[in-house]
Amino acid sequence: MLRILYKTLKTGTVTANYPASPELAPEGFRGKPEISADKCTFCGACASVCPPGVIRIKEEPGATSLSLYICGCIFCGRCEEVCQPGAIALSRDYELASKTKDDLIAVIRRKK
Ligand code: SF4
Ligand code: SF4
Repeated sequence: MLRILYKTLKTGTVTANYPASPELAPEGFRGKPEISADKCTFCGACASVCPPGVIRIKEEPGATSLSLYICGCIFCGRCEEVCQPGAIALSRDYELASKTKDDLIAVIRRKK
């Protein structure tokens, strides 16, 4: 019993101090998709290849919008692969917990 206690105390803390000190995800990690409103041409290529169909492009009065429903994303990276201007990319952000679904919708707009 004492031997186990000694061994445990000698080992010290082995867990990460999360969330106070979040770890950066490794290179190539497929996290939250980020869209650049400046680069996006609203071509629709990403929407047409997205397997779960969570990217939607809509014509609105006076604007075109692109909505990405992150809560349904499967982090496959197809959108990033087909986006010619490099406007969408999977980031290393894995902290996606949210109290509402609305917080997990990214929207960009371009005025007509
Ligand atoms: S994110 Fe890229 S592929 Fe998707 S609509 Fe914009 S430019 Fe086209
Ligand atoms: S990573 Fe895959 S599932 Fe997520 S938005 Fe892009 S194409 Fe759709």
